[in-house]
Amino acid sequence: MKINICILAILIVLCTFISGHAVPKGSHETKAVYQSGAASVESGYLETAEEIEDSKLQSFKDKMLRYYKDWPKPSKSNEPSPKDRPLSPKEVFLTFDDGPSPNTEKILKILNDNGVKASFFVLGSCAERYPDMVKAEYEGGMAILNHSYSHNYSMYKSLEGCTEDFNRGRDVLKSILGIEPLSFIRFPGGSDNRVSNSNTMKNIRDTLAGKGIDYVDWNVSSEDASAAKVPADKIRSSTISQLSHRNFAVILMHDAGGKTTTVEALPSIIDYLKTQGFVFRTFSDITTAEYNEMLKDKIIDRGAATK
Ligand SMILES: [Zn+2]
Repeated sequence: MKINICILAILIVLCTFISGHAVPKGSHETKAVYQSGAASVESGYLETAEEIEDSKLQSFKDKMLRYYKDWPKPSKSNEPSPKDRPLSPKEVFLTFDDGPSPNTEKILKILNDNGVKASFFVLGSCAERYPDMVKAEYEGGMAILNHSYSHNYSMYKSLEGCTEDFNRGRDVLKSILGIEPLSFIRFPGGSDNRVSNSNTMKNIRDTLAGKGIDYVDWNVSSEDASAAKVPADKIRSSTISQLSHRNFAVILMHDAGGKTTTVEALPSIIDYLKTQGFVFRTFSDITTAEYNEMLKDKIIDRGAATK
């Protein structure tokens, strides 16, 4: 019996020793077991499906945030001056896309001779070729806006492609003028162009809206791009027929090498607008009332208005 008690006592001591009381917690063996279990929390890995989903979402958000931090921001140097001025009875915004071009100088001369200002949606690739024309537009009091770098519709394959192209266009304008371009842009082909996938285009528009960038369409087209060479009188009559029932117009025209008839038609279109009492305005000093009118007429942020 005495021997049995002794054996029992020895067994208890042995068991206690083996079960870990005698093994310091910080030894290698203990750590190895600890790390392979609860483990992942300590080393930053997440365990539950929910946490894993949150983590993916967060890293996606971080990535997008990094990617889009370079979208053009609203300009400080071009801030509207008398923002709260009421709408004039008749207002027109002349807009010229795709320049600068060999025609820019002629367009500027016509505008200057008539004492009117216009807005130029400029391509980065053309601005690189004619930087002096961009400067002349700016110094002449015209609004300079981003119309992308390449005008290549392949940019619409993805949000990233479109962002890159517009960022590149913005960088060129910035390097020529030394300022941020205005926060209004125009999509090549317009915001409801048929060349892009509608989901991708919606994604692009929503991203822009989130960054405070307004995309500009038009409510009057000169139709100077409806054929390679549209006769000047046709450009004039198309424009005037659309103006006849409007008091607020954003007119689409083109500043491109082949568009010589646009230049020919321009003086008579300006004459007509003046005789009708239109005030010529630009995006450089757009007022709140004008902005709201454009929203209402779906000239800016058209997709957002229909969301
Ligand atoms: Zn264009």
